[in-house]
Amino acid sequence: MSDKSEKNVEMENIVSLAKRRGFIYPGSDVYGGLSGTWDYGPLGVTLKRNIMQLWWKMFVDDREDMYGVDAAILMNQKVWQASGHVDTFVDPLTEDTINHRRFRTDHILKDNGVDPDGLSMEQMDGAIIEKGIKSPDGNPLSPSRTFNMMFTTHVGATFDENSVSYLRPETAQGIFTNYKNVVDNFYPDLPFGIAQQGKAFRNEISPRDFIFRSREFEQMEIEYFVDPSKWEESFEALLGNVHEFLDALGLPADKVHELEVTDTDRAHYSKRTIDIEYDFPIGKEELLGLAYRTDFDLMNIQNNAGKGMEYTIKGTNTKFVPHVIEPSFGVERAVMAVLAAAYTEDEVNGEKRIVMKFPEHLAPVKYCVSPLLKNKPELVAKAREVYQILKKKHGNVLWDDNGNIGKRYRRQDEIGTPHCVVIDFETLEDNAVTIRDRDTTEQTRVSIESLK
Ligand code: ATP
Repeated sequence: MSDKSEKNVEMENIVSLAKRRGFIYPGSDVYGGLSGTWDYGPLGVTLKRNIMQLWWKMFVDDREDMYGVDAAILMNQKVWQASGHVDTFVDPLTEDTINHRRFRTDHILKDNGVDPDGLSMEQMDGAIIEKGIKSPDGNPLSPSRTFNMMFTTHVGATFDENSVSYLRPETAQGIFTNYKNVVDNFYPDLPFGIAQQGKAFRNEISPRDFIFRSREFEQMEIEYFVDPSKWEESFEALLGNVHEFLDALGLPADKVHELEVTDTDRAHYSKRTIDIEYDFPIGKEELLGLAYRTDFDLMNIQNNAGKGMEYTIKGTNTKFVPHVIEPSFGVERAVMAVLAAAYTEDEVNGEKRIVMKFPEHLAPVKYCVSPLLKNKPELVAKAREVYQILKKKHGNVLWDDNGNIGKRYRRQDEIGTPHCVVIDFETLEDNAVTIRDRDTTEQTRVSIESLK
């Protein structure tokens, strides 16, 4: 068996497999689509949930210092004014002066071999002029302007400035607004964290690269509250936890990179930020971020809402507003990394196959059960029996009696099913089944009794 998985996994192959096999479909496809939106099919939703549940288990359930919340997506507009999103959650936008297509200026630079990191909007425009960079359609580009990425909506029946709200562009603010509730209800010792998973929305100027840059996506975020004098140890510990999670996703360590964000690129309130990048098929790009946000967010609430955000150390009079370390994961980017890491093309007995080598705990289907022949009632009856046993135990078990066994194996390989169980005539004699391993394709005989 030769393994070509390490070499240049083509993005198109993954996108096509994701659609063909029911993982991810373009959003609103029957109506011609809606750019930047994606729908998860039966296998995709399970894969995504497996990733999210693993995260929740590792970062919340298995720990004593984490509290979960699930805040509303719509929040009071003051949240986004105070956080700075209304004024500064912007990307630089440039326009093709002939056909008026719009692009992110930093993306245009990147696509033309210029590193936009640390450049102001004026400097980006300067680089475009200096290098003679044109739009992808070959036309001159306009000077850049800022574009706010929040989706605006109105709450209630009145459409005025007081009814304005936004689809949240990050889940973090729903955590900060509940910090005081959690402290008052649970009085956790510092350091402690509040975790949230859920949808976030950004009106990206140019969504691209499959689900990597979407307009609607999910985040998994933690705000970890610390004593300011001890932030470094929590930062290091969380960085270690992040790597443990990525390892549990089955991402090869040599494709995961830490990028220490420089002073010029970091948000003004952050004292340290590490972007974790991954070697996606589209190149090395941000998978998640880990930021020390100081007391910026809680102080914003304290100053704007007029509510005290101080924490009192138990049994003392020592009070302060805690500082915050934020690991911020994007679910879509995790899904994309898992798909890319699992995607493998190899050869079995001279025949090419595509196999998704998901770690077993992430695989959307754990077992596939088939009768060797579907027109033999005694085989089908026995296979249904085995199917029920496995279904009760593992939940995600598939019944497949279409086509011949070879075709079923190919199909299961493409969706990453770790075990295929076949019931044949011998089963009727010895009450044993054949289990075929996805990765090695080895077949072993085990008794039905042992499957229970
Ligand atoms: P980028 O620079 O790639 O736009 P960002 O630095 O703006 O990302 P953050 O605001 O730090 O991203 O958001 C935290 C995480 O949310 C990111 O690391 C990423 O995993 C995810 N994320 C952000 N924007 C998107 C998007 N448009 N589509 C999918 N995931 C996203």
